[in-house]
Amino acid sequence: MAVTEPAPVAASPAHEGILRRQALRESAARTYARSLPIVPVRARGMTIEGADGRRYLDCLSGAGTLALGHNHPVVLEAIRKVIDSGAPLHVLDLATPVKDAFTTELFATLPRELADNARIQFCGPAGTDAVEAAFKLTRAASGRSELLAFTGAYHGMTAGALAASGGATDVRVTRLPFPQNYRCPFGAGGERGADIAAHWTEYLLDDPRSGVPAPAAMILEPVQGEGGVNPAPDGWMRRMREITQERSIALIADEVQTGVGRTGTFWAVEHSGIVPDVMVLSKAIGGSLPLAVIVYRSELDLWPPGAHAGTFRGNQLAMAAGAATLAYVRENGLAERAGTLGARMIARLQALSADHPSIGDVRGRGLMIGIELVDPGAEPLDVTAENGSAPPPDPALAAAVQQECLHRGLIVELGGRHSAVVRLLPPLTLTDEQATAVVDRLADALRAAERSSYRRAAAGPTR
Ligand code: PMP
Repeated sequence: MAVTEPAPVAASPAHEGILRRQALRESAARTYARSLPIVPVRARGMTIEGADGRRYLDCLSGAGTLALGHNHPVVLEAIRKVIDSGAPLHVLDLATPVKDAFTTELFATLPRELADNARIQFCGPAGTDAVEAAFKLTRAASGRSELLAFTGAYHGMTAGALAASGGATDVRVTRLPFPQNYRCPFGAGGERGADIAAHWTEYLLDDPRSGVPAPAAMILEPVQGEGGVNPAPDGWMRRMREITQERSIALIADEVQTGVGRTGTFWAVEHSGIVPDVMVLSKAIGGSLPLAVIVYRSELDLWPPGAHAGTFRGNQLAMAAGAATLAYVRENGLAERAGTLGARMIARLQALSADHPSIGDVRGRGLMIGIELVDPGAEPLDVTAENGSAPPPDPALAAAVQQECLHRGLIVELGGRHSAVVRLLPPLTLTDEQATAVVDRLADALRAAERSSYRRAAAGPTR
């Protein structure tokens, strides 16, 4: 497939008008729309075309949703088939052939040990609702309310809904250190840093005076996405599995972003070989349409009927699109492809850092890639044994790079604790040629942003 070159900016009244009306009518809380002033009108694979006629390579992929890119033929065909069959599109949580096929396909991809003994709960269609369900489930099964979560974690936005409905609001979360190589909180980095993080977790749980009551569950992301693309070391994942198992704490793997081949294995927990008690799944499992589920060990299935209700838990089109996506990723070895192509892209980006001291760190797993931009001239902020000192993050440079990427026809996302991590989440169907184009455009954008005067002007305090 030919790589699309960015077309010259065309004056487009429709494009300008839509953006102007959006700014006037939509909420101040809108997010992506602020930094990406694009009006998508057509999309195929990795390419989005705007109302102004410009074309972009999309490395945001609906925040990691579009495993097969936009409008993949197998996804469109699956959707059309349901529509043409006359099947109902809305059925609450009733059984249908479409749902049955989706569940069968999903279970075929799960770690065997879990699949052989799993239950599935269809949730409201956002990842955050499935996270709520996982908490409710594990609390009901354990009779405990406390939760364990990690620094830098992102699991969704729905904390208040239950409280406003008069539900239990006494959930306390103990925050534990997530291992970070580049900015290790213990000044160690690498295996040693991960080892200290695991030791601290174990110590807190066993110290009768730690102030941490016995928790219902521990929730973790195998690779933190929004937190800045931090892959959890496999050894640390296994330690978390042992620690939770030994203390009868349910382990919830939030694979909302890491699932469906993204990190180089079908599910990211496969890298470490652990089998969690609960998996939270959304984004790519709906094949670009909204769908969220939890799958869990059947022994945990102790919550009562209606414990996690919701009107939109039966989206037939999403189930059909999702089943087609899961099957396509499995049959075409797209997880392995993500692993090899991602490693190649990471190596090329790491090579760039030789000429760009503002690239502090390049990290990731498969096609979940992060480039942390720093201000190399400023006083170091963190010291790690492996990397020496880490300069402070440079969010202004990252924002400038994002805009320069856009000018070059490349959509990237920012993330990380200081919004200084340029994130790449391309579709798993990305060609070699497109991967090269992504890195070339990003390198070019970085050069331009580094040269530009607005970098320092806009910088302000970076810590
Ligand atoms: N968990 C993880 C790991 C996520 O990345 C996200 C979304 N970025 C969520 C949960 C929440 O999903 P949603 O936005 O669909 O509620």
